[in-house]
Amino acid sequence: MTTAVYPGSFDPVTLGHVDVIRRAAATFDELRVCILRNPKKHYWFSEDERLALIEESVAAIGAKNVTVDHYEGLLTDYAKSVDASVIIKGLRTFQDFEYESQMDYFNKRLAPDVETLYMMADKKYSVLSSSAIRELIAFGGELSGLVPEAVIKAVRAGKFTQP
Ligand code: ADP
Repeated sequence: MTTAVYPGSFDPVTLGHVDVIRRAAATFDELRVCILRNPKKHYWFSEDERLALIEESVAAIGAKNVTVDHYEGLLTDYAKSVDASVIIKGLRTFQDFEYESQMDYFNKRLAPDVETLYMMADKKYSVLSSSAIRELIAFGGELSGLVPEAVIKAVRAGKFTQP
């Protein structure tokens, strides 16, 4: 039984994230999506809202082996605590590659038994980021085709706080 962890901020979850979740859930026995808390960061969507939005989006694609968690601390400690042997990261651009190669080095030192695997972003979503979505939200841009329906509803209902 292989458990994989897919970490991120998911502020908010996008269709690029959902695509990675769908592919990772089809590859591993169990997938744990983990919202990592960075105390220095200000988020637009509360942790409970981000968790609920991911859960709704996962239910919408019918992935039954996915659970959503949140954690404050080192990703490798979270992975060890749930007995995960794999970390999944999405790669969009060369910048992601550079950043992830640094993270990989430290994560390997901290947890040599946990392997990080990279999924290339689907071409449709390769320029999609949560920060671009927040820009669109700020200026009332169209979100369909970029984020799950649950996020569109939450935005319409004003369930977020613009810092
Ligand atoms: P963002 O970088 O969009 O603010 P996160 O920090 O929540 O998002 O990203 C979590 C993980 O998802 C990272 O591994 C990131 O590379 C990956 N990811 C983010 N957006 C996409 C996308 N559009 N397609 C594939 N992977 C993505």
